[in-house]
Amino acid sequence: MMIKTFRGYLLAVLFAFLLAMPAYAATQPNIVIILADDLGYGDLSCYGHPSIRTPNLDRMAAEGMRFTDFYVAACVCTPSRTALMTGRLPIRSGMAGSKTNSVLMAYSQGGLPTSEITIAAALKPKGYTTACIGKWHLGHEPEYLPTHHGFDYFYGLRYSNDMEPTKGIMPKNGSASLEPKLEWWKATLLRNDKIIEQPTDLSTLTPRYTKEAIQFIKQNKKKPFFLYFAHTYPHVPLFASKDFKKHSTRGLYGDVVEELDWSVGQVLDTLRKEGLAENTFVFFTSDNGPWLIKNLAGGSAGPLKDGKGSTWEGGMREPGIAWWPGKIKANVLNHELACTMDLFSTCLSLAGATPPSDRVIDGVDMTSMLLGKGHGQRNVMFYYFRDELFAVRKGSFKAHFNTRSGYSREPMENHNPPLLFQLENDPGEKFNVAAEHPDVVADLQREFEQHQKTVVPVKAQY
Ligand code: MG
Repeated sequence: MMIKTFRGYLLAVLFAFLLAMPAYAATQPNIVIILADDLGYGDLSCYGHPSIRTPNLDRMAAEGMRFTDFYVAACVCTPSRTALMTGRLPIRSGMAGSKTNSVLMAYSQGGLPTSEITIAAALKPKGYTTACIGKWHLGHEPEYLPTHHGFDYFYGLRYSNDMEPTKGIMPKNGSASLEPKLEWWKATLLRNDKIIEQPTDLSTLTPRYTKEAIQFIKQNKKKPFFLYFAHTYPHVPLFASKDFKKHSTRGLYGDVVEELDWSVGQVLDTLRKEGLAENTFVFFTSDNGPWLIKNLAGGSAGPLKDGKGSTWEGGMREPGIAWWPGKIKANVLNHELACTMDLFSTCLSLAGATPPSDRVIDGVDMTSMLLGKGHGQRNVMFYYFRDELFAVRKGSFKAHFNTRSGYSREPMENHNPPLLFQLENDPGEKFNVAAEHPDVVADLQREFEQHQKTVVPVKAQY
């Protein structure tokens, strides 16, 4: 009788425990977004680079889904990150850039408005613990820092690694130097809202970020977490740690990318070792294309035209790799259109969070496509430079209404009628086929005009 009662008591305790367990335990995956800075479409082995070795990203792709047509919403840092974080075109929040600046500068006062809802802020009410590790670049005044945008924890730099030069000692265009000196920059490292180091040894950033990311994962393995791991590199000036110097036959740029690859391997290994792999969605991409004017210190867009600062494909099409063992099938090559703004909608959907209904959301949910249960929901891509719509892609066709080469001092060119390229046939955008497809040009013109009616431009924050 006693034993029975005791067993009954145990069962009752177990039942009560199960009832008390949060509903998210079985349904809400952890989410990790790893973002490189200025990494080109052609800079990884699994995207065809002949000499940079990226075994960890190659394995991630082999175990998951690799996109061929994955985009960012802007061709430079600040607006691109705005779109990823908010699921909205940056023009809707005043973050598209001003007449003078494409990104927030060290002297800028603005930032991502606190009325904007980041992935982290949307996931918080669903029980997620959130961390931003790495480069932020959405406002460096206190009220714009990650900890004021839904992140429980921040460790990293407020903006780019070239934005705090040490006055007067850096040679002209030293950021493109293949032998940069640490003393040319005095970068400031923050933990949460506090400065913890200045100058920061830029050659230690990748391993230190990685250590922080691993620690965050281990500390939060019992509840759902969102880790936004935004690397500082391969944005110039390039610094690799001593373990990776002279690691690559591609030189310093290759050293830096191979160290990022190592870091991705460390994160995925931690997830495997902690038994979290099958409950963690990981996505790897870059914020914009390669900074081509930095010569050998800049990356490669592979077969795509131009790079950072341009709405040609090389500026905005990026590597995109999704990984979630047991959920996303291994070795899938995905040719559908997708974009960083879709990560916003996808993360909310995976977490069971409701997207905000009081504003336009430009992202679409990729979940069913990722899980192999349906096609992608994106058919159109809009390419902005600052606050101006330059191009539209629908299906395989892309029409350019304006063009501009990345960081060139030449004025932008307006095209009327627009240039038309068939991207599957001509990924390098070399052959204008507008004359052969007047119906397609008219359709894209319609998309251009209809889209513009949905946009109420917000005054630039910088
Ligand atoms: Mg960038």
